Amino acid sequence: MLENDLINAAALTATIDPSPLSVDAEDSLHQVIEAMGQAAKTYALVYSSGALLGVFSYDNAARAATHQVNFSQTPVTHWMTPLDRLRPLSTALAWPRGFSRLHPEQPYLPVVDQAHHWLGLLTPDGFCTLPDSAEMVSTSGAELTACHYSVALFQQQQERLALALQGAQMGTWDWDLAQGTIVISDEQERLLGLAPGEFDGSYDTLFTYLHDDDQAVVHQALQQSIQLKQRYGVEFRVLHRDGQTRWLSARGQVFDDGEHAPRLAGVTLDISDQKRAEAEIKLQSQRERLIAEIAQRIRHLLDLDSILAQTVTSVQTFIEADRVIVIQCGADMSGEVIQESQSGAYPPMLGWALRDPWSVGKTFLAHYQAGRGLAVENVYTQNLSPNQLAFLEYFQIQAEIVVPLLEDQTLWGLLIAHQCRSPRTWRTSDVRLLQNLATQVGIAIQQAKMHRELTLANQRLKRMAYLDGLTQVANRRRFEQYLDQEWRRMSRENGPLSLIMADIDSFKGFNDRYGHQAGDNCLRLVARLLTRAAKRPGDLVARYGGEEFALVLPNTDLAGAETVAEDIRLLVRGHRIAHEGSAVAKIVTMSLGVASALPAIGGSSADLVKRADDALYSAKNHGRDQVRVDGEPLPS
Ligand code: GH3
Ligand code: MG
Ligand code: MG
Repeated sequence: MLENDLINAAALTATIDPSPLSVDAEDSLHQVIEAMGQAAKTYALVYSSGALLGVFSYDNAARAATHQVNFSQTPVTHWMTPLDRLRPLSTALAWPRGFSRLHPEQPYLPVVDQAHHWLGLLTPDGFCTLPDSAEMVSTSGAELTACHYSVALFQQQQERLALALQGAQMGTWDWDLAQGTIVISDEQERLLGLAPGEFDGSYDTLFTYLHDDDQAVVHQALQQSIQLKQRYGVEFRVLHRDGQTRWLSARGQVFDDGEHAPRLAGVTLDISDQKRAEAEIKLQSQRERLIAEIAQRIRHLLDLDSILAQTVTSVQTFIEADRVIVIQCGADMSGEVIQESQSGAYPPMLGWALRDPWSVGKTFLAHYQAGRGLAVENVYTQNLSPNQLAFLEYFQIQAEIVVPLLEDQTLWGLLIAHQCRSPRTWRTSDVRLLQNLATQVGIAIQQAKMHRELTLANQRLKRMAYLDGLTQVANRRRFEQYLDQEWRRMSRENGPLSLIMADIDSFKGFNDRYGHQAGDNCLRLVARLLTRAAKRPGDLVARYGGEEFALVLPNTDLAGAETVAEDIRLLVRGHRIAHEGSAVAKIVTMSLGVASALPAIGGSSADLVKRADDALYSAKNHGRDQVRVDGEPLPS
């Protein structure tokens, strides 16, 4: 588009006068003609109070001369051609859009020929020239209008383009491939860090302004564009004299129509800000990804120690702080350092109880409770008391970020990063990282606490589900589960599994005589005695039901189980719990049945229970207060 207009412009015979001559309506003919002479104009636009009244040209002057008027006494208005007498040549052609916006002060454009002879005025209503009678126009009206319009449009576009390029801080350049010369705009020179007119137009010189690492890329892009006649687009750095590096983006293409000399032309834009923003965004997203990773790691931990340990090490590496600590705050705003991460080059703070080390003091309580943190770049500019400074100096703290750890909106503690080797201008992103992690840690603390409570509650529930309420030994459900589990284990390990069933003798009578309460107490005592007798960690004592107990003895053979059963019998007897109504003795006694199995060779746990029960039944039948072993021949 631009190029086409350039060609048209070269062929034009008419053009808009870029600097028309304006005179005042009160000026005399003499003054006006003198001004025209000085300005080398063939016409003057006559204005009154900013409004154009008409046009005065040498033709008007010639006519005035034939009437022998007094040139110094006669105002120009008497001999000018008033606007309303100009003959419109074309109303069909619209005033170039936007032109009046660009030139609000000049709604009339004088058109002159190549010899600068005035031809007419382009007005918003069309092109006007002198009336026919004046016989001044040599060019045909239609032709002129077309030419004129083209010129106005071209100029308008030129101007618009110039404004746009200037506004966009866009440089242009034009490389004549035949001549090898490069013409660049002032703005382009500015982009290269040069003064206007400094560039010598050579390709080689141009490359000296480019960053070493980018020269090859630019060269390749341009050569490829020339060879393949395709567009190019390349980003590169230029080094300015003042040491600044700027990023530029150049785009363009080869213009080769076969008629004119081939050119490679295009525009250049400073994209340093964009590059910086991109880099910042990239860095920011990298950081955010890392933070998210750390946060996730923290959130996956369920015990407080690991959460805090993970937090301080992550923060220390991430923001390269000299020391990162976690202080747990007491209700009185005293604190204790419960986690620390640092290189070891600075005095350790772990375990320190801190009453008022300034940033942990009451001063900031409300601030922290509101979830806000503190970033101190230099502790020496904080007007601290000598005591506070002495504390900070002892730990070599020169700068710090403090963020609160809130657990469900109450202040639980503080996460603090220290800079020890120097003061430090913290970046917003550093503070944000700490705040972000502090939020996660707050949630993790809460989670850890809930997890701990849940674990305890679960443990309690489990105990309740598996314990016999009266005797506090395992209940029947636990017995069955455990027996099954151990059966499978012994089957795998090829070990023996033994079972003792133990039942208090004549317990009905005990209850009848001493009452139910005493019966319960007796059951508790017996359970304790059984627990004492079952010494191995794998042994399980369970209340099988009523006054009957079961002992599961993994890795114990029949002989071993028999010994345990006999121990129990003697232990219970040895306690000499009075049982006046007993038919066996005047004390509480027990009958016990013992059975054993090798699960690896087959059978079932139910069969083992049955055999132990049978043995117990046998003991009852043979006078009670005795141990009977499964498979033992009955005494004759
Ligand atoms: P044997 O020597 O044949 O075992 O006679 P026994 O009286 O001990 O046996 P029986 O099965 O006839 O009676 C069991 C009694 O145990 C019945 C009940 O009074 C008592 N008993 C069962 N569970 C409890 C309990 O939880 N508390 C109390 N106090 N007594 C219980
Ligand atoms: Mg009994
Ligand atoms: Mg019984």
